[in-house]
Amino acid sequence: MSEHAVKAVIFDLDNTLMDRDYTFGAFSRLLIKDYLGHIQDQEKVRDILGYMRIADADGYREKRGFFEELVERLPWSQKPDADMLYSYYKEHYMKEARLMKGAMEAIQSCRDKGYKLGMLTNGLYEIQYGKVLHLGLEKHFDVILTSGEAGIKKPDRRIYEMILERLGTSGEETVFVGDHPENDIWGAAQAGMRGIFLKRSFDWDHTLGMEPWKRIKELNELEGIWNNTILN
Ligand SMILES: [Mg+2]
Repeated sequence: MSEHAVKAVIFDLDNTLMDRDYTFGAFSRLLIKDYLGHIQDQEKVRDILGYMRIADADGYREKRGFFEELVERLPWSQKPDADMLYSYYKEHYMKEARLMKGAMEAIQSCRDKGYKLGMLTNGLYEIQYGKVLHLGLEKHFDVILTSGEAGIKKPDRRIYEMILERLGTSGEETVFVGDHPENDIWGAAQAGMRGIFLKRSFDWDHTLGMEPWKRIKELNELEGIWNNTILN
């Protein structure tokens, strides 16, 4: 598989192209301002922010359960219901979206090489696409696919095959860049792709029985990979 030239690059969104850690923190501060403005003690605000970050589990948790827990746990002056918080999230979260450091340069480095660009992300279409639009990413991508539209999610092999078909490239010609060992690297490998693991919150998962093709800590390392690999 290593003889194949790269023809397309597929990116994950959350904590790959979008700085989800920042985005979730900004959303949490907004929620505290709007719903818990009676709390003046900044140490308590920090505790709440810390609690929300842990309860959110990097977003790998069903949202309704998360908001139900917040309803029970946070010191509201007037207790909202989980549906109200979920609607608030849908309205405000995407507006806090911020690009990962080096994201635009990484996208440009792919464009300079003539690679097709895809984005494959788990989540509801309206939330994920809202973030994409807010970040101004849509115009740079040939194909954007959310699990909400596909009806299946990463790491189901069929969703990688679906985006490859839309890109018009084979797995061997395509590289996947993402921060989740199973969803972005192992799953993409099942469809024949090479994976570039971006180290963010997750350590590499050695139980997967494979290694990523490349590992990076920052997106600006991608250009060096494109330039240094003989595969181009
Ligand atoms: Mg991710």
